[in-house]
Amino acid sequence: MEKSFKGTMSYAGREIPVLYSVDVCVAGGGPSGTAAAVMAARNGAKTVLVERGVALGGLAVLGCVYPFMDTHAPDSDTPYVAEVKERLRKAGIEPFDGVTQQTWHNPETLSLIYDEMCEEAGVDVLYQTVLVDTVCKGSVIEACIVQTIAGLAAVRAKTFIDSTGDAYLSRAAGVPYERGYEKTGNNQPLSFRFEMGGIDVDRLYQHVAVELKEDWCKSKPPYFEIAEAMHRKQRYKLEELMAEGVKTGEITQEEAEYMQAYTIIGKNGVMSMNCPEIPVKFSASNPVSYSKAVTYGRKMMHHIANYLIRHLPGFEKAFISREAAMLGARESWRIRGKHYLVEDDYHNQSRFADAVCRTAWFIDAHGEKVSEKLPKGGFYEIPYGSLVTEQIENLLVTGRCISASFILQASMRIQPTCMSIGEAAGIAAAWGVKHKIAANALKWEEIPADRRSYVSVGGKS
Ligand SMILES: Cc1cc2nc3c(=O)[nH]c(=O)nc-3n(C[C@H](O)[C@H](O)[C@H](O)COP(=O)(O)OP(=O)(O)OC[C@H]3O[C@@H](n4cnc5c(N)ncnc54)[C@H](O)[C@@H]3O)c2cc1C
Repeated sequence: MEKSFKGTMSYAGREIPVLYSVDVCVAGGGPSGTAAAVMAARNGAKTVLVERGVALGGLAVLGCVYPFMDTHAPDSDTPYVAEVKERLRKAGIEPFDGVTQQTWHNPETLSLIYDEMCEEAGVDVLYQTVLVDTVCKGSVIEACIVQTIAGLAAVRAKTFIDSTGDAYLSRAAGVPYERGYEKTGNNQPLSFRFEMGGIDVDRLYQHVAVELKEDWCKSKPPYFEIAEAMHRKQRYKLEELMAEGVKTGEITQEEAEYMQAYTIIGKNGVMSMNCPEIPVKFSASNPVSYSKAVTYGRKMMHHIANYLIRHLPGFEKAFISREAAMLGARESWRIRGKHYLVEDDYHNQSRFADAVCRTAWFIDAHGEKVSEKLPKGGFYEIPYGSLVTEQIENLLVTGRCISASFILQASMRIQPTCMSIGEAAGIAAAWGVKHKIAANALKWEEIPADRRSYVSVGGKS
């Protein structure tokens, strides 16, 4: 370790170095955590971001999850989200196809942009560093314990932001949590996403969009996607191809259940594969089961890839070019915070005075529930109360593990919404530190409107 420690602290009967003593410590550098760190730093807070991988972007980069879905809510882009899209464009990745509203990014460009944003804002990123524990005094987190490349260390901060996706920091601090669907106990299915190269995208387009007349295919190459999902009501033309593979014994029913692929802008002939979807008997919140899911999922990945190479026009010369560095957990643990969002908030299009963003992505709880879309122009808001807890004063939570029910989370979990939540958390954390207001006592709606990333429009509630 270098000499610039801020002293040491006792942990588990030994002295460990304190790597940083800062205003804000963010754990997890996914879409929501990166936004939180950048915005905390831009708002004057000395900020450290702890990330267990070697790239920022979380599922969007390490998990090969692509593209940013459209929130379906009008004017939902908060300033940070708009900036990320603009930075993609400036980096040569035109994110819009002119037909759909989704944002086609490129994982390698995105992680570079995130590094640049952190560097410019003055965020210190601790890579290859895993949050393992917290040290609390009463209702305050004093430090988090991290496993660095050099061993255990501590990061002290005035405010902590849990952006781990798995509510890891919150659980370590004793915050109540839920996992899975209350009716079945199952988490949403995991996926082991990957990329395939060597695809003749024009041939694929000709086959699926022109010959099969798949009306799901709205945009044209280089922006092109194919899909089939047997758990949905909607029927897709490629279902037949996958069902045929089950009949011939080349793939299993589990492997045929869900298959989707998107071209990646800037990576010609490469598609991001939104599959295999691993059966729910493998749990996103049980370490043994999760590990078995990796082995099981990798086999599924190879079966699906080989099947497509043999039978899907355009894939004849394709190959697996990359596999995700983290399993795709749609849902694992969620905190129970001050406010608990539920399915009715989606259907009622709830509004909140302390809203931090809006969204209208449909409820997409694979295998459990897939909702109708809200009427055009409809949306619900996400309140600041879902980001904070009764138990811990100096904690904010962002992204897919905020305080929401299993079913509601299946709508709010998309990347742009997670980014907007992180953005607000960063602003609130910096504001609280500056004005000496605990995160869970702070009232988002009392921050001057021009300092907030989102102001509730009120109305329907
Ligand atoms: C298969 C799948 C397909 C999806 N498809 C789409 C899609 O097409 N479009 C879309 O917009 N959304 C999609 N989503 C949803 C979306 O990607 C996630 O909900 C979103 O990325 C969540 O963001 P987050 O910041 O909360 O967490 P994550 O993206 O999960 O990021 C968490 C970060 O925290 C880090 N971390 C975790 N624990 C620790 C620790 N203890 N110490 C240090 N670091 C830690 C991780 O390495 C990671 O970088 C999909 C999700 C899945 C799983």
